[in-house]
Amino acid sequence: MDRFPVIIPAAGQGKRMKNRVNKQFILLQGMPVIVHTLRIFQAAGVISDIVLVCAPGEEDYYRKEIISNYRITKPTVVVTGGKERQDSVYSGLSNISDDCRYVMVHDGARPLATAELVARVAEEVRITGAAVAGVPVKDTIKRTDPEGYITETLPRERLWNIQTPQAFELKMLKRAHLEARARGFYGTDDAALIERLGQPVKIVPGLYENIKLTTPEDLIIAEAILERRESR
Ligand code: C5P
Repeated sequence: MDRFPVIIPAAGQGKRMKNRVNKQFILLQGMPVIVHTLRIFQAAGVISDIVLVCAPGEEDYYRKEIISNYRITKPTVVVTGGKERQDSVYSGLSNISDDCRYVMVHDGARPLATAELVARVAEEVRITGAAVAGVPVKDTIKRTDPEGYITETLPRERLWNIQTPQAFELKMLKRAHLEARARGFYGTDDAALIERLGQPVKIVPGLYENIKLTTPEDLIIAEAILERRESR
């Protein structure tokens, strides 16, 4: 079977978490966030290997205390990330050989995705070339002027919260990153870079549970979700 690697950017500072510990190391049900995330890909049959992108100086910690300690047995390389998420994904991409047809990207801080969701995104990318998980927005979204006055209410039927996993043809994602770097453009996800190439990106139904751990209350929600899953 073809190689299908996943890049996991985990090099963020997590400032909004207001925790002294890097958010990927916070314990959920007694296990570091990043281990929950790695186990999703360890379990996902479609994924052949893992490129874990970490903050400078954390490489050995990941190799010893995370990958070997928690027995992540799928081939995994640890590489050093950059200033922004996009720089970190780029660093991961630079470590993937051109003989792979597809690549997936998944935030280290999304430990509640599932192997089934990974499989769905992988299936869709083989059809469309670019597929991302997303869920319909629940709130009404408005645009404001710089003073905070509402200028527009966006029609909700076509608005989505975009998540990871996201998967792309490797060649297309490499081109999108090179193009963005050349123009000094920074996006908050990889799909944004593909969109700038004018390429279509398909949304795959994601999971409301697949939250990104960003602020302290997200940890309470994540614990509750994991507890419910365990009791099933
Ligand atoms: O900052 P944000 O929550 O959007 O980050 C999403 C993911 O990207 C996190 O897992 C974070 O660790 C990672 N990231 C990174 N390198 C950065 C910034 C964020 O790998 N410079």
